[in-house]
Amino acid sequence: MHALLKALLTLAATLSINISAHALNNDNTLNDDPLNQIRLFAIFHDDVPESKRSSTYADHIHPFVVEFERITGRKIYVVFDRNRPPYTNFNYKSDDHNKMFEEWEKLTTAYKKERHENSEFFVSRNDRILLITNDFINGSPLLGGMGGLATQPGYSAIAALEGRQAIGHELGHTFNASHDDSEVIYNGWWCETFMFPTAFLLRSNCYVFSEKNKKRIKAYVDSLY
Ligand SMILES: [Zn+2]
Repeated sequence: MHALLKALLTLAATLSINISAHALNNDNTLNDDPLNQIRLFAIFHDDVPESKRSSTYADHIHPFVVEFERITGRKIYVVFDRNRPPYTNFNYKSDDHNKMFEEWEKLTTAYKKERHENSEFFVSRNDRILLITNDFINGSPLLGGMGGLATQPGYSAIAALEGRQAIGHELGHTFNASHDDSEVIYNGWWCETFMFPTAFLLRSNCYVFSEKNKKRIKAYVDSLY
């Protein structure tokens, strides 16, 4: 469940560098990150009910953060956001997921720019912009469909609150983890690593990446510094 939209990504990265350079020359009141920290903007879509929002960090994001920090030695700073159109009311449900995701990528670039122009954050290539949705992009958890999308690697992602590894899976893509290197691990029972592409009901979640994906993530993150 991912899209490789490298041309757009390259364009977006170029824009980021330009904006960042401009910012450094003109303003020192923003939250800077001298070590180019990894910041995750976790944006709740308007359709996520309040009852699910309170447990989102503990159940869906924290397991990924723990694993990521163990692999890379880098901290992830999570900034939650809500009630911010046109991001939180973005129409993510689509049968043409590539076209929809192109629109989301444009919005994530605009989002970084907006938070910068509001004097809140510098624009960083290490930011991740994640839209957390209540529903699938298409189909449904019962009948099958697409629960999330992300650039691999890149900074844009969408993930539904279905399955506790879905957010970690999409964020894993943004740090260059792949389906091909996922695994099912047996340790008294079978579990699926974060990047396993389809969930099988009888298996549990590992909440870890496979050894090969750990190497991929570490190599990618190290290349950012
Ligand atoms: Zn995937």
